[in-house]
Amino acid sequence: MIGEPAALPLLQMALRVEQDIFVIRQRGREVAAVVGLEHQDQVRIATALSEVARDLLRTTGGADVSFHVDAGADGRFHLRADLAPVSPLPDDRYEPQSGAVSRLVDTLSVLTVEGVTVVRMSRRVPANAPTPTPERLAEFRTELGRTAPGSALDELTVQNGQLISALDEVRSQRDELAVLNEELAETNRGVLALYNQLTEELEETNRGVVALYAELDEKSAQLRAASESKSRFLANVSHELRAPVTAIIGLGRLLTDSASDPLTDEQGRQVDLIRSSAADLLNLVNELLDLAKAESGRIEPELAEVDLRPVFGQLRGTLRALATRPGVELVVEEPTGPALLRTDEVLLGQVLRNLLHNGLKFTERGEVRLRANQNGDRWQFEVSDTGPGIAPELHDRIFEEFYQIPGATRVGGTGLGLPYARRLVTLLGGTLELASAPGEGSTFTVSLPTGGA
Ligand code: ADP
Repeated sequence: MIGEPAALPLLQMALRVEQDIFVIRQRGREVAAVVGLEHQDQVRIATALSEVARDLLRTTGGADVSFHVDAGADGRFHLRADLAPVSPLPDDRYEPQSGAVSRLVDTLSVLTVEGVTVVRMSRRVPANAPTPTPERLAEFRTELGRTAPGSALDELTVQNGQLISALDEVRSQRDELAVLNEELAETNRGVLALYNQLTEELEETNRGVVALYAELDEKSAQLRAASESKSRFLANVSHELRAPVTAIIGLGRLLTDSASDPLTDEQGRQVDLIRSSAADLLNLVNELLDLAKAESGRIEPELAEVDLRPVFGQLRGTLRALATRPGVELVVEEPTGPALLRTDEVLLGQVLRNLLHNGLKFTERGEVRLRANQNGDRWQFEVSDTGPGIAPELHDRIFEEFYQIPGATRVGGTGLGLPYARRLVTLLGGTLELASAPGEGSTFTVSLPTGGA
């Protein structure tokens, strides 16, 4: 706090006899009221003053008391009371008799101002109090000069009144506290109820989720069982169908054999029809059987070191017979050097033949090309064509069983080739992907691990 020794005190008085303690208390309260301290603070500083005055009267025989208003470093005003003892303080120290005194004021300290030791206390003036301009301070001084100090009895009456109102306040605070406590307890009960309800709801949701999972498990077990029984059914039916269909083909061949009785032209045409329908049927039955076998996990890939060159050579040989369209060329790019990977040669041959066959079936002009290249630890086989291409939204569908793009059926087929090819590639530990768009041809890419599945 910035002391202004030159500034005139608001009030000063002497502490010499017991009676003065009451006067100091009373005047201190009046000064506090004049500078704008609130009622509670007036009582606080008055009480602190009487305590300190009592101590000083006992230890030093009295003091000169003065009141001031200072501007503090925080920009606020403070009421300051300086008590300068008439004889030195024992050990130059001051310890209030009651420890509570220092809590009644903002500061309480002993300091030396211009060679004089004083016990100084201060209390902050509230911000809403009038600013103590020099004129106003002069007014305060006049006002304080007008009131005469009362007797000890007067001060005792005032003090009693203060005590009663402090007690009243304590009681009303206690009542308020009881109300608050009750409210708090009620809120707690509410929170607890809410918490219990939430816990219950959470538990219920949990039970629901658990039940849902159990149902899902059950459903997927049912699905698995259904899919297995479908594969089993297909395998059995196909197997059973093969023998009679083969018999029909054989019998048809016998009927048209030159050693048999000659048929009329019409009969010959009808027998040819029977034979080609039976051949289509056999083809379908064989493909169904293959797919059912692959799905039921009955195909075990036989992995071995495979050189791609002979595999490609064989594909070129067998497929040349199918590449009969004049405007379509089959190009098999045989690897130039040894091209080795660990896989099942037969299954890989089936997949590539299938894809090349599709290319040849659907391409009317241009070429169907097979090429392979090694990319890190994978081999990639690309079967590309300059055919009609496939719309992106059908890229997944054509891998579904029996799906054929409308209009494509006239070139024959069963819709089982691609799902079978993808099954086999998966068995070999690889992937089969398609890049295609209408009018831009199609490229099927088989990617296989070099080291085997
Ligand atoms: P399939 O060839 O026996 O009809 P797939 O499963 O091999 O059966 O093929 C499914 C369908 O995908 C074919 O019917 C055809 O519509 C389409 N498709 C397959 N390959 C090609 C291709 N290279 N170009 C255009 N469409 C194709």
